[in-house]
Amino acid sequence: MPTPLPPDYHLHTPLCKHAVGAPAEYRAAAHARGIEEICFTDHVPTPDAYDARHRMALSDFPTYREMIAALQDENLPKVHFGIEADYYEGCEDFLRQWLPAQNFDLVLGSVHYLDDWGFDSPDELPRWSSVDVPSVWRNYFDCVVRLANTRLFDVVGHFDLPKKFGHRISETTLKAAAVPALDAVAAAGMGIEINTSGYRRPAKEQYPAVLLLSLARERNIPICFGSDAHQPEEVGHEFETAIAVARVAGYTQTTRFEKRRPQPLAL
Ligand code: ZN
Ligand code: FE
Ligand code: FE
Ligand code: ZN
Repeated sequence: MPTPLPPDYHLHTPLCKHAVGAPAEYRAAAHARGIEEICFTDHVPTPDAYDARHRMALSDFPTYREMIAALQDENLPKVHFGIEADYYEGCEDFLRQWLPAQNFDLVLGSVHYLDDWGFDSPDELPRWSSVDVPSVWRNYFDCVVRLANTRLFDVVGHFDLPKKFGHRISETTLKAAAVPALDAVAAAGMGIEINTSGYRRPAKEQYPAVLLLSLARERNIPICFGSDAHQPEEVGHEFETAIAVARVAGYTQTTRFEKRRPQPLAL
């Protein structure tokens, strides 16, 4: 029997206003791909006006909970309940009281904004032409350090997201910018995800790059896998490739999360 594909821990739902397909269809797609465990991690609702266009309202959250609970039966794949929570200046007071009250299996921590700039949004792509690209990367990883230092999240989502549209920097600059973030993630006991949505973008590879993944491995940072599916067809996308990349970086295990407790799982 071949080892099944690793759990897919990054799935969205239409509640975020930019994904399609019912959760049951994501689950069916996972089953067809040979994935035995999934976690829905839709974009977190926020109490302020932060990026309201790309997420559920707080008043939609009970619907999200019920949609996922309806899939938590004896059938495979097993369905977990998670959230992709944004780290941004001012997020902490709300998240510190709200996250622990929800009984999540997994909390992804993601940086999608630098100040008022949604740097990974196609709508805000023009701004890339008026910024200093290495500075954006440094600011981004400074945010990841602060994210890790909050101790609010389990796993960093799409660890090198600024490459999404192809805005690359030299390996030397990348390493210098990313190492403090990797150290902070290791110190926080967090994991990072291998997010395969990068294969569907101009980045044309998984997040993070194999260089960063090797540095994560050196620090014993656990990994998990996520397709960041915004439609059922994307579940488990390029997982075979991502597993090969993880092996190149030295990984032999992925991670299961239940009630936010990590457990190693053979790759
Ligand atoms: Zn999204
Ligand atoms: Fe994200
Ligand atoms: Fe996502
Ligand atoms: Zn995402």
